[in-house]
Order: sequence, then C-alpha cells, then structure tokens
Amino acid sequence: MDQGQRILPVIDLKGLALGVITRTDLLRLMTSEVTGGHEEARRRVSGLPYERNLLGIMEDRLPARAMSLVRALSNIAKDLDITVYLVGGTVRDMIMLKGVSDLDVSVAGDMTKLLEVIPQKFPVKKIKRHPRFKTATIFFEDGWKLDLSSARVEYYERPGALPVVSQASIQLDLQRRDFTINALAISLNEDDFGRLFDFYRGFQDIKEGLVRVLHSLSIIEDPTRAFRAVRFATRLGFKISKMTQGLIENAVRGGFLHNTHPRRLLTELIYVFEENETYKAMELVDHLGLLASIHPDLKLNPITKSLIRQVDRVRDWFHLTFGREGTPFWLVYFLAVTEPLSQDDLERLAKNLDVNRKEAKILINERPKLNGILARNRRRGSSEPKPSEIDKLLSPLSWPGILYLMAKSSGEFLDRAGAAYLAVYRRVTPMIDGDDLLNLGLKPGPSLQKALSALRLARLDGEVTTVEDEKAYARKNFLPPQSDSPQEVPSILAPTQAPDPQ
Ligand code: ATP
Repeated sequence: MDQGQRILPVIDLKGLALGVITRTDLLRLMTSEVTGGHEEARRRVSGLPYERNLLGIMEDRLPARAMSLVRALSNIAKDLDITVYLVGGTVRDMIMLKGVSDLDVSVAGDMTKLLEVIPQKFPVKKIKRHPRFKTATIFFEDGWKLDLSSARVEYYERPGALPVVSQASIQLDLQRRDFTINALAISLNEDDFGRLFDFYRGFQDIKEGLVRVLHSLSIIEDPTRAFRAVRFATRLGFKISKMTQGLIENAVRGGFLHNTHPRRLLTELIYVFEENETYKAMELVDHLGLLASIHPDLKLNPITKSLIRQVDRVRDWFHLTFGREGTPFWLVYFLAVTEPLSQDDLERLAKNLDVNRKEAKILINERPKLNGILARNRRRGSSEPKPSEIDKLLSPLSWPGILYLMAKSSGEFLDRAGAAYLAVYRRVTPMIDGDDLLNLGLKPGPSLQKALSALRLARLDGEVTTVEDEKAYARKNFLPPQSDSPQEVPSILAPTQAPDPQ
C-alpha cells in the first residue's frame, strides 16, 4: 500500500496466476474484525433514502433571514436550471434546534453562474472561491455566509491524500461525507422544496446522539475524520458509535494517521483545541490513541491533564477580559500538550506537522525562555518583583507565551503578574509626551524615546502619578543639573499608588 500498488498477483510455484489480492481486499480484511459484517454496517447501504418533508421544521427553526435566502436561492437555481440542496452542518444544527448562522448548500450544475447572479440580487461583501475543491463562500453584507460546494465524487489517490474532485449528483455528494449526521440534504428545488434525503439514517443518529461513519473504510480513507468525530461528539454531547470507535482504533494501529497531509492533521488538532470543552475533547482524543499516534510522548499524563485544565481556566479569564477573538489559543494548548517532549523532539514534531514560521517562533523558539522564567520563578522565594520588572520580563514575550506561563504557574505570582501585565501594565503610558520633553529642554533624538520609556516604568511603579511628577522626574533624570536653580524634588518619594490603567 505504501508504494501505491493496487493489485498483487498470486502465482503458484510454476509461475501460473492463481488470482489477485486487491487493495480493497486488504482494507476489508483489516476492518472486518471491527465491522464483522455487522448489521450496523449493512443497514447503511440500502440505497433507498429515508424520506420526509421538513418544510415545516425549516420554517419553524431557520431564522427568517436564512429562510428568505434559501427561497431566493431556490428561485435563482430554477432560472439557471441547476439543483440546490441544503446540506451538512446547517441541516444537522437545524434539526438539533441549534442556532444556524451560515448556510451550507450543495450545487448540482454550473456553480459559476450562481456566483455571478447572487451578487446581482443581494448585497455581497466578498466571494472566496476554491476552484480546486469546486467550493466557494459568499459573505453577505449583513453577516450571513453561504458555503457552496459542487455535488461531486471524491477519488482518493491514496489514503489520506487531498481529494481529487469531479462532478456528480447529490447522492454521490452525501456519500463522500464524514458522518451520517452530516450526510443529510434538504431539497431547495421547486418540485420538492423541503424534502429530506437521508441515505444513511442520519436523522435517526441525531435523535440517538451518535457520531457514525458512513462506511467501514471511511477513517482509513481520511484519518482526519477521527479528530472530527471527537469534535462533533464533544460539541454535540454525542457518543462515537462502537463501530466507528473500532475503526478509529484500527486506523491508529495500522499507522494510517501518518498518511495524512501534515497540515490537515494539524488543522484538525487545532479545531479540537478550539472547541469550547477542550479538556473533554482532549481526553477523548487521547483515549482513542490519536495523540500517541502523532508522537508516543504526547499521551496525556496527570501533569499534562492538569495543565490543560489550567489553560481552560486562563482561556475563560481571557475571553471574559478581552472577548473571544484575537489570540490563537491553540498555541497555548499545544505548548501544554507537548510539555513532556524534549526540545529536539518538539522541533521534529513541529516540522512533521508543517508548523509555519510564525507559529514555530512561539512553539519552538520561545519555549526555552518560558521554561527559564518558570524555573527562575520557582527559585524566587517570597519577594515580589515591581510592576516595572514584570513589564520588562513579559513584554518581549508573545501573548500565547504569557498565557502559558499563567496556566503553568496557576495561582502563583506569575499567574497574577501575567494577568496584571495583559490587562493593565502594557496599556500604561506616560501622561506627558515627546513635545513636553522638548519643551522641558531635552534634545530631539533617541534619548527622547529612552526618557519616555523610563517615565513609563516610573509610572508603573507609582513613582510618578501626575503630570507635574513626570516633568520633575524628567528634569531630574534627563537634563543636566542647573547649579543656580533650586533643586526640584521629584515625587519619587510620593506614596506608592497603583498605576492608572489609562
Ligand atoms: P461546523 O462548521 O459547525 O464545525 P460543519 O458540519 O459545517 O460544522 P465543516 O468542517 O464546516 O463542518 O464541514 C462542512 C461539511 O463538509 C461537513 O458537514 C461534512 O459533511 C463535510 N466534511 C468536512 N470535512 C470532511 C471530511 N474530512 N470528510 C468528509 N466530509 C467532510
């Protein structure tokens, strides 16, 4: 299989052909111990869709804006003589009464025409096309998003490779999907608007809370589905079906994860880290052997488990303080999970996973610095550094690095220092500016910036608190002493106050 050999001839001792063993024979053999020709595997391939009309449910559960969009889409499709179906996450989430905020639509026919007409009818912000995968995303001005994919057949050149795409019908589109709960389609076509196509009993699986692959070769075909199974199970509160779990474990044992495009594997891992319940998802990823198959030392241990929980805690604090956007928290989780790895192993792993240069700067280059800070902190004793010292320590670090320090030193000084730095210290600036310093008599040039930096630190430590304080501080520290003028006493001696966060 490694060499892409599709057929292995079997000959007798005289060299006469007895038959062939195909790749599919091998795959079937490998998976038969899991599926065992089970009822569960058989009942999915009946060929006849389970049908019902969901128009009432659509009208009831889709937001009005979504409903008007799908109706308009239906009309446009009719004019263009193409067929459109609501598919994937949209159908699943609608059935589950979860909020639908974007629409997944499968198009059988010429998608380019659709991409021309839609902007003529709706205010569109931008369109992103992925010609290689025959998909496109339309971003509407009002925030709605429409994901279009061509109904198509996927042919996998070898297990885990990126799919090569060609066109086909909605049934074939559903056939290539990951799980039964994502393999539902609702017709948006005039004749049968609202009709549900359910070839794999996904509707039933949603009701039973099961994540189930469509066929027994699914995970070997695309091992990233193992991570997706964990995500959906965690997010939706579902169980991974017994058979699917067996197929995942089998694929792990067979080393199939390594056939996956490295960046795809990392992307799926990132999605797992980004789930709301990361700890739960990571436990499942670990339980299924997926972490250990990426690197044997990634198997969770009590230390990494408690570290992941601490990253969860820091993430909650961060989202509450700064909102959900902004920092790629997966980097913090990655630092936590790879904690047991030596620097060499980490570098090798990052290379294998196709980590890019910007990410590597944090995950690899910054890691020894973070460990150094943590080690020094352990030896620090009970003395607490001043805010200016904390600022000097943390300002050269990335945010994920600081957040990792906070998680790793939970409840200790560095945890508090990180929070104070991110929420307050880094925003503190002097009240006077460069012009004020020039008016005081400082010369233009780099010394001006130095003076402003020193003033900022003095302000952080409460050595200066008012404009007058700052001017006095600048005169004293950055101007040559004037012998005939009375010496001003900067308010360094003023009582220490907490820095003003503004
Ligand atoms: P969400 O976007 O809320 O995470 P989703 O179901 O929309 O959930 P996506 O990752 O956006 O998930 O994928 C869209 C659809 O594409 C899925 O519903 C699934 O049917 C299909 N899909 C995505 N990845 C795969 C895969 N690796 N194998 C098969 N089908 C896939």
